[in-house]
Amino acid sequence: MKEKIFQLKTKNLLAAMIWPAIFFSIGIWRYLATGGLFYIFIFGYLGLAIAIATIVTDGLIDKYKPRGRRITQLLIGVFMFGFLGLLGHENMQIEGFYFYLFAGVFSGATLHFFIAKLLGPLFFGRTWCGWACWTMMVLDFSPWKTPKNGRIKYFGLIRYIHFAIATAGVIALIFVFDYGPREHYEAQFYWLIIGNTAYYLLAILLAAVLKDNRAFCKYICPIPVTQKILSRFSISKQQIDNELCDECEICEENCPMNIRLLDYSRNNQRILSTECILCNTCLYNCPSEAIKTTNKFDIGVKEYINFK
Ligand code: SF4
Ligand code: SF4
Ligand code: SF4
Repeated sequence: MKEKIFQLKTKNLLAAMIWPAIFFSIGIWRYLATGGLFYIFIFGYLGLAIAIATIVTDGLIDKYKPRGRRITQLLIGVFMFGFLGLLGHENMQIEGFYFYLFAGVFSGATLHFFIAKLLGPLFFGRTWCGWACWTMMVLDFSPWKTPKNGRIKYFGLIRYIHFAIATAGVIALIFVFDYGPREHYEAQFYWLIIGNTAYYLLAILLAAVLKDNRAFCKYICPIPVTQKILSRFSISKQQIDNELCDECEICEENCPMNIRLLDYSRNNQRILSTECILCNTCLYNCPSEAIKTTNKFDIGVKEYINFK
């Protein structure tokens, strides 16, 4: 008999509708405030994309659930980078966000940063990194999904240096070199192309050399600097049920972010690491179905990470 890989569940279908409702509301609010009809299209699309992704992921049988995450990455990543970035000429990178912010320009990039990277982590942790980032949308096609080694100690400091240079660079351009943000608005498109080409090349090179497709996230990308502060308070986190867990360590071996999940569960804590990207890889691989995403309030302090 042919294996059934997808089953539509009415309960999940109804729960998923919350996303179009929230996002359409934001789009309508922006439309009423600015008169820009495209806000309804952009936010409507994003709400529908999240709803489709949720329905598909929930409906797929366990073995195929990771495909739901890949579909989500493509639905959101292609739209954000391809449509808003390449076609809409918005610089969706951190430098673009600063540029628009300091220029007093309320753009899609500004809203994207506030929702996905500043406000979102308080509720959904680093879900952006696990499910929507356009850099990892490409890198996740690479064969090194499970890191063979622990992280390289202190290499993670590079992302803080990167963050400081990006911030100081934009401030210097605007306030020291009088780089008029509004006059150079169009130049943001070229910054986007140059920046992303560099990101993709470096990310692919690091993945190939270190045999780890998330190496760029762990060592270079500046986005986690702020995400890590806010995701400490995230309402959504993974949790291991100690009664079901037999400490087989499969979850740790498969975690793309090298998190020592069992150190948290032995302390009766949820997975409080700010390195968790809520990708659900641990959850899908657990043979005892001992891992669940739960929603409550706690604060992550100590990081338990596997290093080389
Ligand atoms: S750390 Fe950076 S590159 Fe990695 S998924 Fe997050 S935003 Fe994307
Ligand atoms: S995979 Fe499941 S059973 Fe195995 S250690 Fe992790 S939580 Fe426990
Ligand atoms: S702990 Fe689980 S959800 Fe978090 S990054 Fe690791 S595998 Fe993904």
